[in-house]
Amino acid sequence: MKKIKGSLPLQIFIALALGIIAGLIFLATGHPEIATNYLAPFGTIFLNLLKFIVVPIVLTSIISGVVSLSDIKKVGTIGLRTIIYYFCTTAIAIVIGLIFANIFKGTYHTLSTSGLEYQAAEKTSLMDTLVNIFPSNIIQPMSESIMLQIIVISIFIGFGIIIAGKKADPVKNLNESLYEVFMVIMRGIIKLTPIAVFCLIAPVVAENGPQILGSLAMVLLTAYICYFLHAFIVYCSAVKLMAGMNPIKFIKGVIPGFLFAFSSTSSIGTLPISMECVEKMGGRKDVASFTLPLGATINMDGTAIYQGVCAIFIAACYGIDLTLGQMITIVLTATLASVGTAGTPGAGMIMLAMVLQSVGLPVEGIALVAGVDRLFDMGRTAINVVGDMSAAMIVSKYEERREAKEKASA
Ligand code: ASP
Repeated sequence: MKKIKGSLPLQIFIALALGIIAGLIFLATGHPEIATNYLAPFGTIFLNLLKFIVVPIVLTSIISGVVSLSDIKKVGTIGLRTIIYYFCTTAIAIVIGLIFANIFKGTYHTLSTSGLEYQAAEKTSLMDTLVNIFPSNIIQPMSESIMLQIIVISIFIGFGIIIAGKKADPVKNLNESLYEVFMVIMRGIIKLTPIAVFCLIAPVVAENGPQILGSLAMVLLTAYICYFLHAFIVYCSAVKLMAGMNPIKFIKGVIPGFLFAFSSTSSIGTLPISMECVEKMGGRKDVASFTLPLGATINMDGTAIYQGVCAIFIAACYGIDLTLGQMITIVLTATLASVGTAGTPGAGMIMLAMVLQSVGLPVEGIALVAGVDRLFDMGRTAINVVGDMSAAMIVSKYEERREAKEKASA
């Protein structure tokens, strides 16, 4: 049983291969409608389940993420600096993702699937985007899956719980246990991915032919270029400028954590290794034990890149051009979503559903990338973990300087 559990990515790969073969057979025999009529509906069931679970997961996980930040008061400026660094690097990551995906957009193949029911979103100005973040109603954002508003509601509730203190303990505990329940359901849904991938990819290949596979290779390449640039440009210059650290020393130091994250696809599972890496590079233990677990929970730069790239890819496949307002919405949603993404395998794909919903893109598009999600996940988790380690080094240096100043003035 354990063995079957452990091989979910393998099952997904096999399902993808079988789905492609089945799709090619339907195409070659001139009956693509069989795939569309009899396989696609099972894929739709999976997508419905994904849409259903994403709202409660976002709501409960962001509330508990915000509540867990209450400890930050204890660590004062370390906490604030770490969080600002995490949010800024995540926003940069997604901008890099959006820029490169727009450059490579021309290489993505537009689908000819008939059942595309995308309704072009009305063009929104920057100010409208800002106004639309704030809900005027607590129910409507949830019933209509208006993701940015749900994130804002969750943040408000989280802060409300912190400020209300002891009296809010029942709400806090209820949220924790609801979160656990929804996570169990989500894990169950994720187990259905192989069947869903088969049922979703076969009709796409049957209707579009093998060209779609070339697009998939291109979108993977785009994501890996962005992962690479983000690590080399953003993290290396951040450790150089903010911690005075030699980037080569940093790259050498993070390799064990990078490799472990790459193979395990879990930031949380990589924590013991990343702690060790930071200490070996001369980072402080007290800082690492705060910044790394926090990062594994709320800092997901690789995931943000993946979401930006996939959003543009899916839009291109459906022949949709995103407006500037929609791109800004993606930056905001994906940055905030990193608070709600668990540092576990495949979590970023669930959050992709939310990013797509935030700009009205079809969640069905996830079918295109789900089969190779493991390949995206390996790279994005490695980047997530390297980002956490860079923060640990920078904040360690900052603490050293602060203590030295305090000693000098004493
Ligand atoms: N696997 C990632 C992590 O652990 C999360 C994701 O799926 O994006 O950091």
